[in-house]
Amino acid sequence: MEKLIYLDNAATTKTAPEVVEAMLPYFTEKFGNPSSVYSFASGNKDVITKQRELIAETLGAKANEIYFTAGGSESDNWALKATAEAYQDKGNHIITTKIEHHAILHTAEYLENRGFEVTYLDVDENGSVKLDELRAAIRPTTILISVMFANNEIGTIEPIREIGKIAREHGILFHTDAVQAFGQVPIHVDECCIDMLSASGHKLNGPKGIGFLYIRKGVKIRSFIHGGAQERKRRAGTENVPGIVGLGAAVSRAVRTMEERAAKETELRDYLIGRVMKEIPYTKLNGHGEKRLPNNANFSFRFIEGESLLIKLDMKGICGSSGSACTSGSLDPSHVLLAIGLPHEIAHGSLRLTLNEEITKEDVDYVADSLKEIVAELRSMSPLYEDFIKAEKKA
Ligand SMILES: *Cc1c(COP(=O)(O)O)cnc(C)c1O
Repeated sequence: MEKLIYLDNAATTKTAPEVVEAMLPYFTEKFGNPSSVYSFASGNKDVITKQRELIAETLGAKANEIYFTAGGSESDNWALKATAEAYQDKGNHIITTKIEHHAILHTAEYLENRGFEVTYLDVDENGSVKLDELRAAIRPTTILISVMFANNEIGTIEPIREIGKIAREHGILFHTDAVQAFGQVPIHVDECCIDMLSASGHKLNGPKGIGFLYIRKGVKIRSFIHGGAQERKRRAGTENVPGIVGLGAAVSRAVRTMEERAAKETELRDYLIGRVMKEIPYTKLNGHGEKRLPNNANFSFRFIEGESLLIKLDMKGICGSSGSACTSGSLDPSHVLLAIGLPHEIAHGSLRLTLNEEITKEDVDYVADSLKEIVAELRSMSPLYEDFIKAEKKA
């Protein structure tokens, strides 16, 4: 295949060359175990501390509030399970939303099977949490509110500051899955009253299999992996030193480039959305008009199957997603698209395109042209579309 236009950056991103370069020595000459006493290895402890400081600073947090994990899923699991266990004397109720990543939803189900009660909040047609419904869901037994910072499918950025404030007023812990937002939009844990925050390296041009959980000082949280004394005895296991160094490099790169990258991606995203909405009839833009991630576009094309669209796009060298990578292979439409009120048949014809800073206007034009052609071709084979057009003509 000659051309490759990668528009699936919400699934994973390319590890930046400067990140790989920073990691390499920690596989070879600097391979020592950070817990060893000799200076050859113990230097790696300082290197880890440096990454912790760097990451904490971007969030307005303290270094000892950052705990390294093996990625977003682990951080989400840890935040929910450990809070549930540590605060069960206070209550057994957890509030989250219907549009969370499965790392949250399936963990919440796991807790439900163990006697916890979970409220899954509805969202409005843009995918935003409704604050009055959140307030109404709070009970004396509520111990945790977990709402994602930005949605991985439709890109909607949630009213995190307001949600944090409500949680704080009620003395309830607030966790946010910021895997999609961290590195794309500025986040300050104090301004948003965030008590715990999940992030992952591979969504911000860092390596896979590394992430962190921010845990505010004072939050009672049990150790997640038992063993050695790593991560303040809360997450045992020899540190993934190359991964941690890569995560640190990716975070500093993300922070350094954020403003310029967001401006560039927003412009191209809006250009793509503009062309698609204008040139392809019977199309809906999913997600919030303004409060959305700079790189996210999500469309529903009536009368077609998202899967067929993906295959045809692939033949043109374009990588997209029809829901989230985790659910493709299953025939159920995305839970996020259903939660914003799309009927099944429309949710099935959905496409998520997530940009990166390497995408050019020429790429976007090629994608828009290809989409126009493929959607028309698929519709021409659809009996539903044929009936619809006939009925339209009569009316
Ligand atoms: C990708 C993703 C995760 C999972 O992160 P991993 O590092 O792949 O485990 C969790 N939440 C959201 C919102 C994501 O987009």
